[in-house]
Amino acid sequence: MTFATLGLIEPLLRSLEKLGYQTPTPVQAQAIPAVLAGRDLMAAAQTGTGKTAGFALPLLQLLAMEGPKVTANSVRALILVPTRELAEQVHEAVRQYAENLPLRTYAVYGGVSINPQMMKLRSGVDLLVATPGRLLDLFRQNALKFNQLQTLVLDEADRMLDLGFSEELANIYRALPKKRQTLLFSATFSDDIRLLAGQMLNDPLTIEVSPRNVAANTVKQWVVTVDKKRKPELFVHLMRKGKWKQVLVFAKTRNGVDALVEKLQGLGINADGIHGDKPQATRQRALDRFKASEVQILVATDVAARGLDIEDLPLVVNFDLPIVAEDYIHRIGRTGRAGSTGEAISLVCADEVNLLSAIEMLTRQTLKRQNEPDFEPEHRVPDTDASGQVIKKPKKPKKPKASGGGGKRNLGKWVDSGEVAPAEPSVKPVRKVPVFNTGPRKRKP
Ligand code: AMP
Repeated sequence: MTFATLGLIEPLLRSLEKLGYQTPTPVQAQAIPAVLAGRDLMAAAQTGTGKTAGFALPLLQLLAMEGPKVTANSVRALILVPTRELAEQVHEAVRQYAENLPLRTYAVYGGVSINPQMMKLRSGVDLLVATPGRLLDLFRQNALKFNQLQTLVLDEADRMLDLGFSEELANIYRALPKKRQTLLFSATFSDDIRLLAGQMLNDPLTIEVSPRNVAANTVKQWVVTVDKKRKPELFVHLMRKGKWKQVLVFAKTRNGVDALVEKLQGLGINADGIHGDKPQATRQRALDRFKASEVQILVATDVAARGLDIEDLPLVVNFDLPIVAEDYIHRIGRTGRAGSTGEAISLVCADEVNLLSAIEMLTRQTLKRQNEPDFEPEHRVPDTDASGQVIKKPKKPKKPKASGGGGKRNLGKWVDSGEVAPAEPSVKPVRKVPVFNTGPRKRKP
């Protein structure tokens, strides 16, 4: 199969030839003809599957071939994405595909001045990539009109809900013409996403190019167990031992990112960090330098977990496991993209056993453990398996403490706080891991 047999026009075929795309990926093979035929889509596609071209190519073709010329402050196709980095990346891909077409494309997102964006929108754009918050700001300030809108794309829809954008999406949805084509892309499908799809899509074609919630099988995944306080030391040890060249590292919190970057830089290691507290320009610069291999280690919160396409990234390290198991899939999806192989290593301490178990249950696999000599944890990480069980071995009797301790651990709201580890393992040696909470959560990193 070729892109020509999918019905793409010559100016697009020329762009693809220049980019070296020879064969459509499975998501492209299914999405392109359907979008060209005007269908709504509900597509489950992992990152790295080529989904951007899957929606952008037919969308550009429809814009070039059909519909009226764009008028002032109007937009004919809208691609909503969860993060600023993704907006830049998707727009860059669109720009390359549209090189030979007479279409105006643009990207808007928060964290930068709104005025240049308002100026640019004055003459109208055919295709706009946007984050939800800034799009609404522009709409409310009358810099944008949706009366010409013919297609809406929701990219990384699950992430948009995770980041707390459901209200913004509802407001945008109310402002759009009812008659339009809608394409929804999501790496994972929670019940909330299905609800959103039910409201927004009209008789959609469902595309699923990978089994639900299974991480890319091109990524070799393993776990090293370690005591929490020794994680930085283990990271540096593994880095030197494995002669790591380019690594994307995920930490749980903004402070965690800053602390690790500081520690690595203190050792003379070329590291930088990105998280939600940093200005957009600083974030983008760190990412660009990492992509250009000018930075060796990029440490990030989950703001960087979705959609970012870093060519040939060989390795992702989870310095901390994510609180939400689905984020694991997105994190490791940064490597092993477009058919190449990758590796994902998670440094796991005893506190994180429930998070590990939730990931194994979601991805339906027991992650291989590999102990590192000299780093075996004093606080053992109980065995886990893909059934979602944490297998507790009987504990040695503890010496009584003078005071304190014994409090319930706070592992985030998804933990069923009704269940507490038994005081006496002999009474109840196996504890079921709580059910993953799919509800919307607050905007985080
Ligand atoms: P995406 O999943 O859309 O982020 O795409 C992942 C990567 O695959 C990007 O670097 C694309 O440029 C690349 N890509 C997409 N489609 C193809 C194709 N048909 N052939 C080769 N590379 C592709």
